[in-house]
Amino acid sequence: MKLIGAHVSAAGGVGNAPLNAAALGANAFALFTKNQKRWLAEPLTPGSIDEFALNMSELGFSYSSVLPHDGYLINLAHPDPDKLDKSRDAFVDEMRRCEALSLKFLNFHPGSALDGNVATALPRVSESINLALGKTGSVAAVIENTAGQGNNVGYRLEHLAEIIDGVEDKSRVGVCVDTCHAFAAGYELRGEDDLDIFLEKFDSVIGLEYLRGMHLNDSKNPLGSCVDRHESLGEGTIGLGLFERIARDARLDGIPLILETPHPEIWSGEIDCLRKASEVN
Ligand SMILES: [Zn+2]
Repeated sequence: MKLIGAHVSAAGGVGNAPLNAAALGANAFALFTKNQKRWLAEPLTPGSIDEFALNMSELGFSYSSVLPHDGYLINLAHPDPDKLDKSRDAFVDEMRRCEALSLKFLNFHPGSALDGNVATALPRVSESINLALGKTGSVAAVIENTAGQGNNVGYRLEHLAEIIDGVEDKSRVGVCVDTCHAFAAGYELRGEDDLDIFLEKFDSVIGLEYLRGMHLNDSKNPLGSCVDRHESLGEGTIGLGLFERIARDARLDGIPLILETPHPEIWSGEIDCLRKASEVN
């Protein structure tokens, strides 16, 4: 069973996210549980938590099909101790919001080595995860691979493996693969065999059991460009073939497959296209 959806709006309250996902014909979704451009947010109210739970159950969404994303300001690799602390506190707040909603995952970008030193940044990310897991009870920290733009770490599968290696509770850490980011970081995904090669590499470097979700995005920029610019499926430099192969690949059953493509008005068509591809044997 393929769990296919998009990163939908939660404007007006988190309870609107499942409504917006259902309107697209999705059986999975991503959301921000607070304004992603701000450090602080009001706590979720009991009313909004109840509304989310009610809409989840009435619309038939499973909690394992939801992949919330943290805010953009958080940098768990920050080399400055005060700024690192601020990010770590904000990340714990995000984890607690997810727990309040009974969500299982929190998807985040590993961060930026602003001093250019990847070797010291990766253990900082692991320690940030350890601290957050220690202050929360159930949500898993799901690290997203990056395009390698600027000083962002996590553009190599080996970076993600090293971060996971430093996490004490391996049951609460995982990975989300963004196809645009992987391609921009230099992983070839266009050919008939390239998804297979990529997943085998993922399995040998990290372990497929850590794969908790995917972001399905075509790319505006070429292979190895290190530029993070998403494009609609089939409209970019990757092409539709990869996404049809993902939809057919049984190894990717049961994990949320989330569109972050730039034209929400065609999301329902993109979801339908993936759903149809998943039904072809
Ligand atoms: Zn993404």
